[in-house]
Amino acid sequence: MRSTMSPALGPEKAEQPLLYAYAPARERSEPDWTRIPGFRGVSRAEWEDATWQRRHTVKSVRELKGALGALLPDDLAEGIALDQARRATMSILIPPHMLNTMDVAELWSDPVRRYMLPALADRRADWPDHPRASRDSLHEHDMWVAEGLTHRYPTKVLAELVATCPQYCGHCTRMDLVGNDVPAVTKLRFELPQQRRFGAMLDYLRRTPTVRDVVVSGGDIANLHITQLEPFVSALLDIPSIRDIRLASKALAGLPQHYLQDDVLAGLERLSRKAFERGVDLAIHTHVNTAQQVTPLLAKATRKLLEMGFRDVRNQGVLLRGVNATSKDLLDLCFALLDHANVLPYYFYMCDMLPNSEHWRVALFEAQQLQHDIMGYLPGFATPRIVCDVPFVGKRWVHQVAEYDREKGISRWTKNYLTPLERGDPEAMRRRYDYYDPIYTLPESGQAWWRRQARAGEHAESHGALDA
Ligand code: SF4
Repeated sequence: MRSTMSPALGPEKAEQPLLYAYAPARERSEPDWTRIPGFRGVSRAEWEDATWQRRHTVKSVRELKGALGALLPDDLAEGIALDQARRATMSILIPPHMLNTMDVAELWSDPVRRYMLPALADRRADWPDHPRASRDSLHEHDMWVAEGLTHRYPTKVLAELVATCPQYCGHCTRMDLVGNDVPAVTKLRFELPQQRRFGAMLDYLRRTPTVRDVVVSGGDIANLHITQLEPFVSALLDIPSIRDIRLASKALAGLPQHYLQDDVLAGLERLSRKAFERGVDLAIHTHVNTAQQVTPLLAKATRKLLEMGFRDVRNQGVLLRGVNATSKDLLDLCFALLDHANVLPYYFYMCDMLPNSEHWRVALFEAQQLQHDIMGYLPGFATPRIVCDVPFVGKRWVHQVAEYDREKGISRWTKNYLTPLERGDPEAMRRRYDYYDPIYTLPESGQAWWRRQARAGEHAESHGALDA
């Protein structure tokens, strides 16, 4: 009998190269909160109560010390305090549930700690900022068509309803608006009273039938009482041109207890029913960055939403060095979301070019490699796209780049629609728009080029930079 195997391809050669080993799903349990000194006597009923969680949310290094006790190393406490004083763009706000997803025995290296509670030593001392970084790096406010309503894409808008969240992430893209003032950043504030602001958004959408998708966000919609959220979303459902509504809430992972409250569930169920009757897709988008944040309570909240008819619960994570920027970390997270929580991996955003964010950002070539490396393991519909949110352009898949100067770390992108900012600008569609790699990832010649730019104080225009 003839062997079907070529001698050149022995059994060992035919095996999968072990780039990623999928671990079949096993049951997960909620991390034991009583291992944390400040939560030692807390009952399950208290833990699962959203009001208890909000009352015990950590808002300062002193409260962090109170919760973690001796588990918080002194040098880390000092580093977080120094960071708050000098570099942080977000204040400290972390619910007990989220604190409990950290490896409290290894807080310095824990990925959730690294993005929720940054210490000064985490940041780059050489280039804490990219010279082109800015607050509101996506220029969302410049594209407001009503206060808090960004119309950036032809058929889609973003409605920022509230400027607070139950938790504050160190890398928040909306650091310009969201959260409390910190020494490094005085936040913008909405000026209109809430009802007038919501009314102006709805008026714009009623008279703009080309908009079919609305992302209802903030901040985090979990910080809007259901008696305020429900009428707004219900009014959206009354606008015949709106066919897709996505509610954005990191709290689904950070404070899932919020989504297990009777009044919240009742309000969301009414919205879900109305959306179904009108043939509108209503979904939740959440923001989970690491597999360890996928807990049974997140899964329980997600299932409630799916049971009541939400079209989907999808994850939009952020790609962050030191947190999840390896193919293993990304795949572990995606499989955890799928296997344990019925959450669909959707996007990973490259971290935006915000002040003091260089240590988290990855270069475009690294993001392209990660996209390559995660292909083929997940179901196609659940394979997330890694996207770069290019200023004045919008989301671009990382392989859509038009030009890429690896030496200076400047990528150039094209656009295929106009934002309100470019109406009347005949060059807008022909122009190329720049994005920048972190300088420390560049070859020495590229780093020297940026040092010369900094020394000369010349922040050359991006096209000039490429042509230089
Ligand atoms: S939950 Fe979202 S909006 Fe709120 S701080 Fe985090 S990233 Fe920013």
